[in-house]
Amino acid sequence: MPNISIEVIAAIGFAILVVLSLLMKRRRPKEQTFKCARCSTIADHTPRTIEAWRSGKTRFFCNACHAQWLRSHPSPISSRSEKSGCLGVVAFFVAIPFLLIASWWGYV
Ligand SMILES: [Zn+2]
Repeated sequence: MPNISIEVIAAIGFAILVVLSLLMKRRRPKEQTFKCARCSTIADHTPRTIEAWRSGKTRFFCNACHAQWLRSHPSPISSRSEKSGCLGVVAFFVAIPFLLIASWWGYV
C-alpha cells in the first residue's frame, strides 16, 4: 500500500540532511592539544579553539593569551554567530515534528 506520502519522505530526507550537517559541524581536530602561537604552551583544545579550527585557522592561543588578546581587541562576533547557529538548530528540531504531523494529517 502506497501509504507514505511525498511529504513524509521529504520530511525524513530533510531530517537526515539536518543530522548529517550537524555531524559535519561536530568534527574536531585530531589532536587533543595544541601549541599556543604566542607563548608556545601546550594547551588542551577548548570549544573556542575547536571553533577556530573549524573555520580554518591554524594558529591557536591558550586561554591566558586569548584573555589578553580579548582585552586589547574586544570583539563579540564569534560568540554572536555561535548563538545564532544554536537557535537555527533548535528551530530545525522544532520544525521537524510539525512537518511530520502536517504531512500525516495531509493524508489521513
Ligand atoms: Zn599562550
